[in-house]
Amino acid sequence: MTVKTRFAPSPTGYLHVGGARTALYSWLYAKNQGGEFVLRIEDTDVERSTQEAVDAILEGMTWMGLDWDEGPYYQTHRYERYNEAVEQLLADGKAYKCYASKELLDEIRAEQEANKEMARYDANHPKIKAVNDAAKDGDPCVVRFRNPKEGSVIFDDQIRGRIEISNSQLDDLIIRRTDGSPTYNFCVVVDDWDMGITHVIRGEDHINNTPRQINIYEALGASVPTFAHCAMILGDDGAKLSKRHGAVSVMQYRDQGYLPEALMNYLVRLGWGHGDQEIFTPEEMVKFFDLHDISKSASAFNTEKLQWLNNHYIKTLDADYVAKHLEWHFSDQGINKETGPALADVVRLVGERTNTLVELAQQSRYFYEDFSEFDEKAAKKHLRGVAKAPLELALSKIEALSSSDWTTENLHQVIEAVCTELEVGMGKVGMPLRVAATGAGQSPSVDAVMQLIGKERMIQRIKLALDYIAKREANAQ
Ligand code: GLU
Repeated sequence: MTVKTRFAPSPTGYLHVGGARTALYSWLYAKNQGGEFVLRIEDTDVERSTQEAVDAILEGMTWMGLDWDEGPYYQTHRYERYNEAVEQLLADGKAYKCYASKELLDEIRAEQEANKEMARYDANHPKIKAVNDAAKDGDPCVVRFRNPKEGSVIFDDQIRGRIEISNSQLDDLIIRRTDGSPTYNFCVVVDDWDMGITHVIRGEDHINNTPRQINIYEALGASVPTFAHCAMILGDDGAKLSKRHGAVSVMQYRDQGYLPEALMNYLVRLGWGHGDQEIFTPEEMVKFFDLHDISKSASAFNTEKLQWLNNHYIKTLDADYVAKHLEWHFSDQGINKETGPALADVVRLVGERTNTLVELAQQSRYFYEDFSEFDEKAAKKHLRGVAKAPLELALSKIEALSSSDWTTENLHQVIEAVCTELEVGMGKVGMPLRVAATGAGQSPSVDAVMQLIGKERMIQRIKLALDYIAKREANAQ
């Protein structure tokens, strides 16, 4: 039997991290088992479903690299099939038409509550029976599933273990509304059956639906899939993860400068583990993934850990690959990548110092754009009279370097030579040069920074720094 899993989002909003993690687990399990992964859009709630949300979900899945083998299927395209299945159950006597009006059901519920009974639908209630007996074919009605009255539903949840629910707690679910539309729990079962889904991996918010759905599978003569219900994701304060904790949509993580590899690695570990390993290549995730290792308890989102992973991937993934993602942030921040070094070189030099691509872009702007002012604090501290001689000497040595000599090693030697000739320490040369080169007091190694900035720009920037010092001295007199 080929393992087949699915991700079945309702397109009522963006793809949030909880959904993305469920999708990832389903995807990993299919891959681990040499199976297939299906994407199904559950858009029967037409009031709340939007094309925009469908697009956002597909964009999020694609960005995460969660490719699907089949689909996307759309439930709204399958109404005929659902109706066929409703008719099958009606013909088999496993479903029935109920003509009771909403008003009558409300009245009965109020009576049950007044009598301190459990409020539930009961086909044998005399008032309901009377209405149904008197009804004629063609009168408005819903179709209800005839849930078994005896026994219980037992299933072996792959995460939570054995679960047993007595049928006495389950009432006869509406499977087709008065307007002819099928209901959610019924569509899910018909879909999972038709699509050959063997493993349903989904959020624990669906656990109450599972016993009802199992009864419907059995009534239809379908084989019941294996279920795994994943616990929730909480914010760092222990409350259910929501917008007020910051980003919740997958694409917001892209916007905040995370690589898909980092988010994927973060999400896989959030509720699943393999020994104490923290970093997994996609191949390792696929190889080690097992439903039984998914945690039963809720997991708290930890942004610091996500940042740590992101830093790891910025440093270790191929720089050309990281550069492609960085490009998006350059355009987002309005930096023209044509006006400076190759992005991959910047990734190699600046990447290890940053946790996000947003920071990486921010900290790389000076390679691409000239500036006319220096960071005030850095300039006050490092562009002083004493820096004049080191900057002038460095300038003359830099001017003397030919373009083929424009290497990090040679620039390092320039700095050393200035130190030796002027008998000053490294800081007295390196820091003014850094402020001149970058406009600020912090950067990667200044020789490598100067190399990437380029000769013409460096000459111009050292001159700007010397002008600054000259003005400052003039003002001081
Ligand atoms: N459409 C449901 C949701 O978005 C998922 C249903 C399922 O996985 O069975 O929550």
